[in-house]
Order: sequence, then C-alpha cells, then structure tokens
Amino acid sequence: MADTYTPPLPSFVRCRTLGHAWDTATPTRKPLFGVLMALQCVSCGMIREDILQPDTGELLGRAYHKPLGYKDVGIHSRAEWRVTFIGLATTETAPSENGKKK
Ligand SMILES: [Zn+2]
Repeated sequence: MADTYTPPLPSFVRCRTLGHAWDTATPTRKPLFGVLMALQCVSCGMIREDILQPDTGELLGRAYHKPLGYKDVGIHSRAEWRVTFIGLATTETAPSENGKKK
C-alpha cells in the first residue's frame, strides 16, 4: 500500500495546538431563525457560524466549515499536536550558530 500521509500545514498545527484566531467575517447566508454571526480563523481559514438569539445572545446553533485537509491528518491527541508544534517552532525560530535565523 502506498504511503498517503501528508504532513499537516503549519497553520493547521498552530490552530490544533493553540486554538483558532477568530475574526469576524461576512455571513454568506441568512439563517432560518436567529442571527448568524460568522467568524473566520485568520490562520487556517476555518469558518465558524454561530446562530444567536438576538435579544438574549443565547447560542442556538454552531457549525464549522473546515479547510480542505484540516481533518485528514494522522495526529489525534493534544499532546501529539504540541509535539508537532514544538518541532515546527524550533525549526522556524532556532538561531543558527552565527546567531541568525535559519
Ligand atoms: Zn485556525
């Protein structure tokens, strides 16, 4: 069987480890009830749609629209994500012997 594992994108590792960095987004649809508040992660592009009761702010429903490949990785536990994140962080920020970033 061919090896089909593809390493997760660094943005996916970051979000899986630290959580998403939400910013407001323009809703792309009208909900059947309540008010739709759309958010998009500025790191990985995930979209979160919260349906809220307008007068109380109560959360009535929530949906996520994941970017392609976000869910298709072989890492499952938070600890595994942290290990992968540490590997990326040290590769990206470790200074070389002359003090400059790699
Ligand atoms: Zn994200």
